[in-house]
Amino acid sequence: MSTAEWEPVGCRQRKIRHANVPPQIEAHRYVSPVDSDIFVRVSAKKRIAVIPGDGIGKEVIPQAVRVLEAVGADLAFTHFDWGADRYLADKTTVPPDGFAMLGRDFDAILVGAFGDPRVPSNIHAKEILLGMRFKMDLYANIRPVRLMDASLCPLKGVEPKDVDFVVIRENTEGVYTDAGGVFKQGTPDEIAVQEDINTRKGVERIIRYAFEYCERHTKSDGSKRGRVLMCDKSNAMTHAGGLWQRVFKEVAGENPQIKAEHMYVDALCMQMVRDPRQFDVIVTNNMFGDIITDLAAGLQGGLGMAASGNIHPGKTSMFEPVHGSAPPIAGKNVANPLGAILTAAMMLAHLGMASEAARIEGAVLEAVRQKKVTQDVGGSLGTREAGEWVARNVSGRVS
Ligand code: ATP
Repeated sequence: MSTAEWEPVGCRQRKIRHANVPPQIEAHRYVSPVDSDIFVRVSAKKRIAVIPGDGIGKEVIPQAVRVLEAVGADLAFTHFDWGADRYLADKTTVPPDGFAMLGRDFDAILVGAFGDPRVPSNIHAKEILLGMRFKMDLYANIRPVRLMDASLCPLKGVEPKDVDFVVIRENTEGVYTDAGGVFKQGTPDEIAVQEDINTRKGVERIIRYAFEYCERHTKSDGSKRGRVLMCDKSNAMTHAGGLWQRVFKEVAGENPQIKAEHMYVDALCMQMVRDPRQFDVIVTNNMFGDIITDLAAGLQGGLGMAASGNIHPGKTSMFEPVHGSAPPIAGKNVANPLGAILTAAMMLAHLGMASEAARIEGAVLEAVRQKKVTQDVGGSLGTREAGEWVARNVSGRVS
């Protein structure tokens, strides 16, 4: 935790050592200027596992780390080489005990992207990324959709205040479980079955998460959130859709203060382009969440601007930009690092470092306004130069 958080005007702050606090943890005693109540908060360096992965992940994640260092957050980084290079070198995707180690030894994980044309099966991506989501049970994929500047939106007349919603995607079930099989492969009678897994537990916890998120979070301008929209295709996919419908009605009934809405996924795609102002919190399944957040990224300036977190409350969570490894542009210093940098800010907010997160978001906003950005969002900087600009702004070295 940064000491910056402990510097409101007129406050006295001093470091103390507590008998029951391990030596690697610093305890701060904070004396309130208002009522002299004394309370103690315990802080420790947050341990971050950094896994850049493949393609542009290896370019944007170093920029995100550079910005995290510049903001002065109290973090300790450990870097991992999981990805295509490692897989091609020794066939390791995830080392034995890898996921247990991440959950045990780290407070958060910062990930780039996986996918490399040299591994056509994409087996490493599946085992690392889906492995992390499934085996660490990171069931809530939070994807904020926020327009930073009107110039980034392809829709005419749309302002930043008009695009500020969040998609909450179920992250551990659906068609991504790879249940199914192929029968009579390679023959004219071939049959391919891809199962869509929806459990009561999985559906209920993601819908509850969406209502709680709506309750606890405000929009960027500080106004309250108040609506949760469930997106499905229950008119065609009646079995899974029926379960989602029943659970949604039940949980909505327990939260009468929040307006519950519903839209079929096809209608939602049309509405997102026609009028994005109407969305607040959207909850949906794994596949629809994947698809609609690429569409939503288009409203924000493209995939290079979109951030995400893979969360299990109370457990080590993982943060990754929405974009993939983008092989066509990898290694050219042209990838936009802002999605990864905003992802790093999300991670800080999740770890309780809200002021540092806000400083990073402010610097990104400034970069966008001043066009100190990559070509995809209207600038002329390279990946490294754009990252450096944000890092310098965050540390107060540019205005
Ligand atoms: P995945 O399925 O792994 O998420 P994807 O198929 O959605 O990946 P991406 O790798 O995300 O595809 O990228 C698709 C295209 O979007 C890229 O080829 C590139 O043109 C553009 N793109 C993605 N990320 C960025 C970025 N950070 N900066 C600039 N352009 C990007």
